[in-house]
Amino acid sequence: MNTKYIIVAGGVISGVGKGVATASIGKILKEYGFKTTAIKIDPYINVDAGTLRPTEHGEVWVTDDGGEIDQDLGNYERLLGTTISKINNITTGQVYHSVIQKERAGKFLGKTVQFIPHIPNEILERLKVASNNFDFALVEIGGTIGDYENIPFLFAAKSLERQIGEKNVLYILITYLPIPSHIKEMKTKPTQQAIKSLSEHGIFPDIILCRAREPLDDVRKKKIEIYANIQSEFVISSPDISTLYRIPLNFEKEKLGTKILKKFGIKKRKKWHFKHWEELVRNIENPPKTVKVALVGKYLDIGDYSLKDVYISINEALIHAGANLGAGVETEWINSKFIENKKFKLKDLSSFDGIIIPGGFGETGVEGKISAIEYARKQKIPFLGLCLGLQLAVIEFARNTCGLTGANSTEINPSTRYPIIDILPAQKKLIENDKFGGSMRLGTYAAVLKENSRILSLYKKTGRLLKDKEQLKEMLGKKEQRFRIGRTPIGKNTILERHRHRYEVSPDFIHFLEDSGLIISGYHTRLDDVNLTEFIEINNHPFFVATQAHPEFKSFLEEPSPLFTGLIEACIKRHKKRK
Ligand code: GLN
Repeated sequence: MNTKYIIVAGGVISGVGKGVATASIGKILKEYGFKTTAIKIDPYINVDAGTLRPTEHGEVWVTDDGGEIDQDLGNYERLLGTTISKINNITTGQVYHSVIQKERAGKFLGKTVQFIPHIPNEILERLKVASNNFDFALVEIGGTIGDYENIPFLFAAKSLERQIGEKNVLYILITYLPIPSHIKEMKTKPTQQAIKSLSEHGIFPDIILCRAREPLDDVRKKKIEIYANIQSEFVISSPDISTLYRIPLNFEKEKLGTKILKKFGIKKRKKWHFKHWEELVRNIENPPKTVKVALVGKYLDIGDYSLKDVYISINEALIHAGANLGAGVETEWINSKFIENKKFKLKDLSSFDGIIIPGGFGETGVEGKISAIEYARKQKIPFLGLCLGLQLAVIEFARNTCGLTGANSTEINPSTRYPIIDILPAQKKLIENDKFGGSMRLGTYAAVLKENSRILSLYKKTGRLLKDKEQLKEMLGKKEQRFRIGRTPIGKNTILERHRHRYEVSPDFIHFLEDSGLIISGYHTRLDDVNLTEFIEINNHPFFVATQAHPEFKSFLEEPSPLFTGLIEACIKRHKKRK
């Protein structure tokens, strides 16, 4: 089957869940037996999300192949349950960058290089590469219809349609119907305007998804149907829901998947048996019990609003683990600066069932986080450290258990006496030579887990241990395999997790840490045989675990991340005891 494209555009306002809706449609098509992928178009000039402050667009999502991408790709992976490459994110910056590079290299043979056709052509080429070998490619155009920046992408969609034929392209408009509080009536006018804007680009939606606080009534459905000139079965109501994992089920109830296939004139390959998925969703909506987790981080405030999207994957990974263990997870975000200036009292952490220290950059709030870790360790509160969270747990242990007073990361104090977390010069060189990740360790890396460690038992339970090199071939090219595996033995308690950091636990200090009882329960072995610390844990504690990786990037509702499962199990135990 040739690839069929589903172009998703948004009307009226952004932030109505276009990404989640796109991913949910993808989920349904995948469950019907089709090879499905999703592509995100970001009309900004940035080449990728790597340099964006998290408060700009929320979390930076990391792909296996080391892309630093808009968080929507995270929703795609979470719902599609497949690895999605960095090429599935197309930004205006990438498009112009490569057109200009090609022009400089004389690739246009002296022709005038112009906005039309060269920019849409480049977009088209990228769409084709990302969708190669798939039955369906969902293409989500970021922003809102009517934005200037969208124009080349809509133009590219039309060119695609011309090239592969109308019958292979379907347009979905996701719109928003406001209910102004002073009139309490759902208004269709902005949707009509979005339909009109889209038609100015020669695009007439095949399906309109109506997002609103409440379900769409018949009167409004009729209005949209007439205005857009489509049958009412293709106007779909999509009211607010309590969890995003309910959306694929609601779409299935509305027969959205079947309607899409009908438009393409194809039949389902198999049925979606969603019983298990539904059970998990019910656990999220009505959990039999709820545990409380404190997330001690920063990047939380912009103006008067705090931005939870910064840690969206951690939040989702907690939800996944909880749903599978029959527990709701209530997360409270604690600004670590408030621990430092005593606005938040450390002892108040004891009212939580677990504590997470997430990833982060720079020195702000670091001492507050270290105090929280010390508290978790001493008061035996379940603790999970992620990336910076591992680095700070090692610093805390070095200072308070090994007696290395003032131990620090050179990111935080470049002149520390004990640079226990440091940039390893050879590491910097290696990364630069192989050109993966610029100066960062980015993307998936292999690690071997220590026999009898708690971490190994958690990974074993979930079947995440790598069996052999064959498995790797599907995920990584040859050169990437060499670099990302290094000399880490495969098939011997080996796992893969994603990374995004510059600093490492300095190998020079490992013996101090181990002598004082810190268990290094996982290593990545570099090509030059140097071991990089990937996991740590301590004994005689309900759960004290940290990783240099970001396991939250590989967590799915039906297959939660092992470390999050371990944390929530420990939280449930503490919760029971506290009761
Ligand atoms: N700032 C630390 C480093 O670069 C940790 C990064 C992170 O937590 N993602 O190594």
